Amino acid sequence: MTENLIGRRVDLLDKGFIELVDLMPHPASGIRGDLAIVNAARVSFLGESKGDEADKKLLFYLMRNHHSSPFEMVEFKFRLRAPVITYWQWIRHRTFHYQSANAQSGRYTPFKEDDFYVPSVWRRQSTSNKQASEGELDPEATAKLTDQLASFYKQAHALYQAALDMGVSKEMARLFLPGFSVYYTWVVKVDAWNLINFLRLRMANDAQYEIRVYAKAIYHDFFKPALPWTAEACEQYLFDQSIDLNP
Ligand SMILES: Cc1cc2nc3c(=O)[nH]c(=O)nc-3n(C[C@H](O)[C@H](O)[C@H](O)COP(=O)(O)OP(=O)(O)OC[C@H]3O[C@@H](n4cnc5c(N)ncnc54)[C@H](O)[C@@H]3O)c2cc1C
Repeated sequence: MTENLIGRRVDLLDKGFIELVDLMPHPASGIRGDLAIVNAARVSFLGESKGDEADKKLLFYLMRNHHSSPFEMVEFKFRLRAPVITYWQWIRHRTFHYQSANAQSGRYTPFKEDDFYVPSVWRRQSTSNKQASEGELDPEATAKLTDQLASFYKQAHALYQAALDMGVSKEMARLFLPGFSVYYTWVVKVDAWNLINFLRLRMANDAQYEIRVYAKAIYHDFFKPALPWTAEACEQYLFDQSIDLNP
């Protein structure tokens, strides 16, 4: 039921989350997202719904033929919190960021001591792909690296706080913070077609684990429940077969 989707929040990584803030068409309108797509396509010949079987067939035709604009009639607005390593990859998706986003300001809000990402495992460098990782370090090495990271964060935050205490501005004191690891919060809006592009790229096995966690949560917790026909058509025609579609 899409009514329950708005306000739903899924916790991710150690301190991150994603929450659906709004959806168009709004569930209160009684119009299902899949039907909004079909109805937009039928405007071409001034028609409307012809019942589930014909409507679903039309939606599958649109997807199969990359007739994309009707899918842009559905929009999702998310509030999310993720480490900068993920934020940085996210903002490359111009249609899912630059057009419509608002982010937390480190010039305005001071960072807290636990605003940093602590991974649960340390992945090894891949030997076959210079950009990727594979396998994990053993538990002893993991514990050692995690301890080192925690003490590094503590020291960095202490330097940041000391600079603030000396009267340094927040916009400059943040130079002391580990930039890749700090958590950011932002609100962002995207239409269904461009979200599908994001999901296709970021649920794939070659996407970094951290952003894949967010992409999979979007797909299973929000996209699929909001647009079940569209999700089925994506799985049939658009997503690479190697994508792991398990939640
Ligand atoms: C596994 C992986 C590794 C990557 N590695 C790197 C890397 O090493 N370095 C790096 O810089 N990036 C890297 N990227 C980012 C990648 O190059 C894309 O910038 C990112 O995936 C966004 O994809 P997009 O352009 O399709 O999405 P969006 O920016 O959301 O655009 C969606 C679609 O809209 C259209 N579009 C949007 N803006 C324009 C425009 N101005 N002109 C014409 N068409 C437009 C395009 O058809 C585009 O496909 C990587 C991405 C992945 C998934």
